[in-house]
Amino acid sequence: MATEEKTPTATGAVEGETASAEDISGALGFEIGDSPFSLELSQDQLDIQEWAHGFAENTVRPAAEEWDEREEFPWPIVQEAAKIGLYGFEAIAQFWADPSGLTMPIVNEELFWGDAGIGMSIFGTTLAVAGIYSSGTPEQMIEFVPQCFGDPDDPKVGAFCASEPDAGSDVSAYRTTAKYDEAKDEWVLNGQKAWATNGGIANIHVVIATVDRELGSRGHAAFVIPPGTKGCEQGAKVKKHGIRASHTADLHLDDCRVPGSCLLGGKEKLDEKLARAREGKGSKGQAAMKTFEVSRPTVGAQAVGIARAAYEFALEYAKEREAFGRKIIENQSIAFDLADMKMEIDAARLLVHRAAWMGRTGKDFKNAEGSMSKLKAGEVAVWATERAIQILGGNGYSREFPVERMHRDAKIWTIFEGTSEIQRLVISRAISGIHIN
Ligand SMILES: Cc1cc2nc3c(=O)[nH]c(=O)nc-3n(C[C@H](O)[C@H](O)[C@H](O)COP(=O)(O)OP(=O)(O)OC[C@H]3O[C@@H](n4cnc5c(N)ncnc54)[C@H](O)[C@@H]3O)c2cc1C
Repeated sequence: MATEEKTPTATGAVEGETASAEDISGALGFEIGDSPFSLELSQDQLDIQEWAHGFAENTVRPAAEEWDEREEFPWPIVQEAAKIGLYGFEAIAQFWADPSGLTMPIVNEELFWGDAGIGMSIFGTTLAVAGIYSSGTPEQMIEFVPQCFGDPDDPKVGAFCASEPDAGSDVSAYRTTAKYDEAKDEWVLNGQKAWATNGGIANIHVVIATVDRELGSRGHAAFVIPPGTKGCEQGAKVKKHGIRASHTADLHLDDCRVPGSCLLGGKEKLDEKLARAREGKGSKGQAAMKTFEVSRPTVGAQAVGIARAAYEFALEYAKEREAFGRKIIENQSIAFDLADMKMEIDAARLLVHRAAWMGRTGKDFKNAEGSMSKLKAGEVAVWATERAIQILGGNGYSREFPVERMHRDAKIWTIFEGTSEIQRLVISRAISGIHIN
């Protein structure tokens, strides 16, 4: 049989084969070398990724089913994370220090690949930390952030309490009040917070309250409730669809008095902000939006981790499972689903890394790129975990296999930290300059 002759293409590559970088550079007359643009992770990032993956694989994943079934906060795993330096003030500072912004999402992706409920138990504290960083003075950061974590022998957690029973997406509707008692230099908080991750079990609660309801969200202030403060009690614990190891509860504030120094940013700054709002002067809305945009890629990275876990499991399963005398992956419908899953997960990660890099390097989120990353990753996680169940068939629907849990876990990523609809609002307003409702 005559061998088919293959014709070299203009780049020097043989038809049907991929041109190498050398072929292309030879044909076009430029050198392949270092580029100022790189999608490659640095050695430091790769090392941290491997370390976080090892913890996720050896400690988190084996414990996932147990803590999901128990629906209890996995203190022993959080303590393990604290002991190896993955949970704590220094750890978070180290992840944030990476000038590219990528270490935080990289670590989150790996940990949530291990398990989302345990991942949230370890990383839920960062919500409180972000609240302190976005509003607090340097002194308040030094005082309160380490208290959110405790120490490796006695780890603590922090909670960020903004949502209320009648106000989630609509932040201007918060009813929790904070009144200043000038004689005692104390703030008195009253109200009910809902859905708080770590609410009631936290050492430090960061609470958003209104000091002037007429000003809507411009009348809000953030307060730290120090440990053991009277009048701050956990309410009902929420029984959830997913991330069941993570603790979610209401928080009741009943004449809860905190020192004046617990108002994040201080009274002078608050008074100035209120005065500006009452005069109808420009708000710092852009600054607030920037803070959210900066934290959203981390949340997106968590969703990427869940999606990847489900995809990897489904891929291996499809290569093993046989039906009609062949591996199920040999059917295009299964193989194409897996191809789409891989592509969508990679696309979500690229959006996450872009937004993380933009946030860390101070770029303007002109098109709400932070929201894009969270929206895309959350929706990919829900879709990919559902596809994984389909690929596993009946086994996918059973608690004997992890993709069922991953699907339950994934759903919250289209709801918390701004629902998918709210992300679309933010993006559409950013790209159009029009106040879309
Ligand atoms: C497990 C879990 C953990 C959580 N952790 C925290 C936490 O730590 N701290 C905290 O403060 N909160 C937390 N939340 C609350 C979460 O952020 C809110 O549930 C979320 O913001 C949505 O608010 P909502 O539930 O009141 O829904 P609603 O605001 O009532 O929205 C209901 C539906 O209407 C849609 N909708 C609302 N307004 C619009 C609009 N203008 N245009 C289009 N659609 C719209 C929403 O997208 C949604 O689909 C948590 C929630 C859960 C379930």
